[in-house]
Formats: sequence, structure tokens, C-alpha cells
Amino acid sequence: MSQFAENLEKIRSRITEAAGRSGRNPEEILLLAVSKTFPPDVIREAFDSGQTHFGENRVQELLTKIPELPPRIEWHLIGHLQSNKVRKILADVDMIQTVDSLDLAQRIDRIAGEIGVFPRVLIQVNIAEDSAKFGFTAEAVRTEMETLLCLERLQIDGLMTIPAFDPDPESARPAFANLRELRDELASEFDLPLTELSMGMSHDFEVAIEEGATIVRVGSALFGKRGKPKNE
Ligand SMILES: *Cc1c(COP(=O)(O)O)cnc(C)c1O
Repeated sequence: MSQFAENLEKIRSRITEAAGRSGRNPEEILLLAVSKTFPPDVIREAFDSGQTHFGENRVQELLTKIPELPPRIEWHLIGHLQSNKVRKILADVDMIQTVDSLDLAQRIDRIAGEIGVFPRVLIQVNIAEDSAKFGFTAEAVRTEMETLLCLERLQIDGLMTIPAFDPDPESARPAFANLRELRDELASEFDLPLTELSMGMSHDFEVAIEEGATIVRVGSALFGKRGKPKNE
């Protein structure tokens, strides 16, 4: 068994256990393999082990990988999307998890109309109001939600967040719980499912699942340690 396949098996069983602890069905939790910095051959091996959903945080990197890999892979963009790159990426990704401003949402909607797609997106919420992070504040989502819902092309499936890094997984629990509460509040106010909650990474995905995550974004626990990207 490859190292990836072994890691995948372990992560899947930890997902099942965390779901069990919180009385949830593990099948409602999507494992997104965060493949940033890893080359296509590594991703292909992961795909051959049964992993189908991959996350990338840079548009350029994603665009070079997509044509080299099986079309059955589902790609999620999980990094900040600059407005001048929307057109390049829109037809090629299955979900944009990082709609972090009204401007960006409007631009995606407009270009989606031009090219004839209905993109699935998540609204990125800066739940801890960390000035170093992108995303709507909870308050801004409450005020802008109505406008966001008027964008005819956007399929808003839910919310995502990236809390400030803390090695202690428990420290992210309040942020995860707050994101879920915000989702519940918006879902009831606007009578929407808003099913997806993308939260939790390698070191804290179990806590995120206990707090309601439906998408966990796991990189290093699956692929091993990343090298530094060139422009960071
Ligand atoms: C890199 C990244 C991850 C994965 O991080 P790991 O700690 O390696 O699991 C998850 N989410 C986002 C937005 C990322 O950029």
C-alpha cells in the first residue's frame, strides 16, 4: 500500500470516529485532499487510491494541474481569488470555497452569465475577525446575504472558514461552533439549506466534525509535509 493510501485509510477512520462521537453520519462529510505544492504524479497516485476531491489555493497552479489529471477529479479552489483571475478559472473548478467579498461574488456572477455556468460557491467568513484573513465578518454576511442571494448564477451551498492557526485543535472549536450557528441563523432567516460547512484542517478536522463540518480540508496529514511554495 502506498503511503498516501495508508494515510487516507487512517484519516477516513478518524472521520468516521469523530462523526460517531457526535452522532453524525460519516457519509455526509467530504474529505477534500489539499494537494497544493504537490505535483500531478502525486495527485494521480492519490486519485488511484480512491480520493476524488482535491483542493488547491492558487489559480495558476491549479490551471497547470487540471489538464494533466483525470477529468473525473473534482477541484475546489480554497485560496483567495483575485478578480482578474475569475474568468480563467470559472469553467474548470467544481467549487469556489473562497467568495470573500461582495465585489468578487458579483464578478463571478457576471462572468458566469457570460460563459453560461452556475458555479457552486461557499461564502468565506472571517469568523474570528482576524485582520490577516480574507472573508466577510459574520455581521457583513448578515447584511449582504440578501444581495448575495439575488445573484442568479451563484449557487451558494454554505460557508467556509479558516481560523487563525493554533497547534491546539481545541482552540478552534469556538470558531467552528460560531460558523455553524451563523449558518443555522442564515438558513432559517432566508429559508435555505446552506448545507455545507467547510472547516477543519489536518490538525483540527475532528473538532470541526464534532461542530458540524461537512467538508474537511486535509493536506499534510494525507500528503506529508509541504515544501515552501516559491512566492511565499
Ligand atoms: C493548506 C490549506 C489547508 C490544508 O492544511 P493542512 O494543515 O496541510 O491540512 C486547508 N485549508 C486551506 C484554506 C489551506 O490553504
